[in-house]
Amino acid sequence: MKTINLSPEPNDAQIRRSIKPVISYPIDNFPAFDAELYKTARDNMNLIESIIIPPRDAKTFEVPAGCFFRIISIDGPQVGDLNVWNKNNINERFFSGKTRALYGTHVSTGDRLYSTLPFLRPMATITYDTLDWYGYDKDGGSVHDVIGTRCDPYTHVALNNEEYHNCCHSNLCRALSQQQQKTIEEIEYHVHDVLNVFMCTGFTKNTHQYFMKASPVRPDDYIEFFAEIDLLCGLSACPGGDCSSSHSSDKAICYPLKVEIYKPLKGTLKQWSAPSPNKYSRNHGHS
Ligand SMILES: [Zn+2]
Repeated sequence: MKTINLSPEPNDAQIRRSIKPVISYPIDNFPAFDAELYKTARDNMNLIESIIIPPRDAKTFEVPAGCFFRIISIDGPQVGDLNVWNKNNINERFFSGKTRALYGTHVSTGDRLYSTLPFLRPMATITYDTLDWYGYDKDGGSVHDVIGTRCDPYTHVALNNEEYHNCCHSNLCRALSQQQQKTIEEIEYHVHDVLNVFMCTGFTKNTHQYFMKASPVRPDDYIEFFAEIDLLCGLSACPGGDCSSSHSSDKAICYPLKVEIYKPLKGTLKQWSAPSPNKYSRNHGHS
């Protein structure tokens, strides 16, 4: 938090601080978001599966490459913690940190969820977001963040010295363990930093600490993704509910979330092809 200052300022401190920032990862060379391609497909698609995620629990679902999925608010404001894996190799999974470095702290329509090294390719593209009107509020908060990690029982026990078993991390562990038919001990390493769907978050202006505030999501709001590769997804309905006050407990009012999977009609995705893994040689300077 940088509240302890033991070191004296150098004489040129102001000059050093006033250097202009540059964007670390300009994305100008990425292929542009092809709004027309996705619109044609989403205007001509059929619902093939619906899944209800119960409150304080998680479920997995598969989305074939070239299909869409929506995460939908039903019944009341509820935050969801999303994990995404390559269905055919769960060692390739969503890379929250690099997605943040590329697109910023919060994602919306046109942004892509990138996978971990050494794959580093778009796993999914966000094609519609009914909360894109929210923008950034006066607190610097916004919706759908890639800065929070997921609520987990380890941080909870460290901060509060009590056990809670329905954090998003645990919910995702149970769901993936069941889907992969492996023990939680084996599978826990595959649960990763999430996309915080519908969660409203930011950093405080004074201490730059991670904050949350009541989600603006309301029933029928949804965020829609296009699967660029075959996906296995895990979604937890966070025990924090709308994340207005607390999480990692049974205190908050929680609601279910709904997932809908859609398949576009044949011929509507003619100019699309699934992205290949990253082209880097993986030599790493090794002679
Ligand atoms: Zn959570």
